[in-house]
Amino acid sequence: MSSTHIVWFRNDLRVADQAALAAAVSGAEADGGAVLPVFVLDDADADGWAPGGASRWWLHHSLKALAADLEKLGAPLVLRRGKALDVIPELAAEAKAAVVHAGASAEPAARRIDRALAEALPKQGSALKRHRTTMLFNPNEVRTQSGGPYGVYTPFSRACFALGVAPPVPAPARIQGAAPPASDRLEDWALLPGGPGSREPDWAGGLRDTWQPGAAGAERRLAAFLKDGLLHYDARRNLPGIASTSALSPHIRFGEISGAAVWHAAVAAAGNAGKGLETFLKELLWREFSIHLLWHNPALPDAPLRPEFARMPWREDGAALRAWQRGLTGVPIVDAGMRQLWQTGWMHNRVRMIVASFLVKHLLIPWQEGERWFWDTLVDADLAANSASWQWVAGSGADAAPYFRIFNPVLQGAKFDADGAYVRRFVPELAKLDAAHIHAPWEAPEAALRAAGVALGATYPRPIVDLAEGRRRALAAYEAIRSEAA
Ligand SMILES: Cc1cc2nc3c(=O)[nH]c(=O)nc-3n(C[C@H](O)[C@H](O)[C@H](O)COP(=O)(O)OP(=O)(O)OC[C@H]3O[C@@H](n4cnc5c(N)ncnc54)[C@H](O)[C@@H]3O)c2cc1C
Repeated sequence: MSSTHIVWFRNDLRVADQAALAAAVSGAEADGGAVLPVFVLDDADADGWAPGGASRWWLHHSLKALAADLEKLGAPLVLRRGKALDVIPELAAEAKAAVVHAGASAEPAARRIDRALAEALPKQGSALKRHRTTMLFNPNEVRTQSGGPYGVYTPFSRACFALGVAPPVPAPARIQGAAPPASDRLEDWALLPGGPGSREPDWAGGLRDTWQPGAAGAERRLAAFLKDGLLHYDARRNLPGIASTSALSPHIRFGEISGAAVWHAAVAAAGNAGKGLETFLKELLWREFSIHLLWHNPALPDAPLRPEFARMPWREDGAALRAWQRGLTGVPIVDAGMRQLWQTGWMHNRVRMIVASFLVKHLLIPWQEGERWFWDTLVDADLAANSASWQWVAGSGADAAPYFRIFNPVLQGAKFDADGAYVRRFVPELAKLDAAHIHAPWEAPEAALRAAGVALGATYPRPIVDLAEGRRRALAAYEAIRSEAA
């Protein structure tokens, strides 16, 4: 009997290597039925982690691109806003759908919704089928020898390499689309700041200048990286002043390109030889490791994995937090990173580690504050990667950087931005300062500051914390929770 096969798109906004779409298409071909693609904007059931501002901007454009791709293939995308728990059964009933195909997620809210739908849908003659669309492996597939989850990255990555990544499958040539039920208009969702229905000013100019959301933009980034970046990736990936990494993260986060497609394209471009290739594949596995951690630790976004960190004597310091958020801490590499984030919705990984360490260690502000700010401002904000990375930097997570390893932002700047090009780009008020002083202007001789037009405390702030003092305070706080735990 012919029936309707719903594809429920989530963080997998693409038509190629999309297992849920492929299953719906082959189901419809087998029973002479049709495919109904849907996307549900569900802000209510997200455990407080509904998409932030930068993600909403990206989502708008990504959905537009996906809708155009699906339309070309023959199946228009239906948009609905509301609780997925209500909307999906309603749509399944309206379309008389036999199956709802969806990508599986490690996010706790999505897992809870899926469990409820798996019970509810059969009562109305439909079924939920989940597919692996956002991960390289199913979370339970990567297991230690004793059958448990991994808590340490290196053996996890070895296990992944041993399993091997399945090759991507191409997009369907054509989709037999179902007669679409009523759809919301994307414009009415007011995802764009300054757009119709938005109460915010338009702050997205820098995002528009930097990114092309959608599968075509992802392909373009990938091609550029494979041509110019992959070979030198191992040597250059820590240098924020040049385009040293792929900048694929928002595309991967929204699933505009699959991890498997990136993996196999990199292997094909580099052969199996280069160190650049190996290091790059390992970064893709850091993403997978974050997903693995979230799957096995659903409280990861909110609570420290190491319980003693719940007793950390964090400071409440609104003024320092605001200075950090705005890139006005007086520490140039930190300010450059925070301004890159604000302007472009993205920050280089090395600098993410530096600014995060500065917040949780030198300022002793809870990692959750930084995690929230990143959530709102990153175009690649991802529940698994963001929370795992913040816990890693804070020292409270699995396989985390030890708390006592405190980045010195001046030395980090001098090492990874030796000529100061990165600071000059994002902190223009320091642009004329020579490389010897650009990472610690408070140590520069008065004449050098004057020649560069810098007046500390007037054109650029003095550091909001004494770095040596901040370090001592952090170590003392850590010692206190450690000795209590012992
Ligand atoms: C405090 C902090 C917060 C972070 N928050 C996020 C986040 O919300 N979303 C996010 O995607 N990444 C996050 N990262 C990880 C990392 O910084 C970004 O993935 C990376 O900078 C993206 O740039 P790229 O695409 O050029 O990466 P590349 O170096 O080109 O790496 C390729 C891909 O591998 C993945 N990847 C690389 N490094 C990591 C990593 N350490 N952890 C997880 N995945 C990784 C990404 O999908 C990335 O696109 C965070 C890191 C830190 C220190």
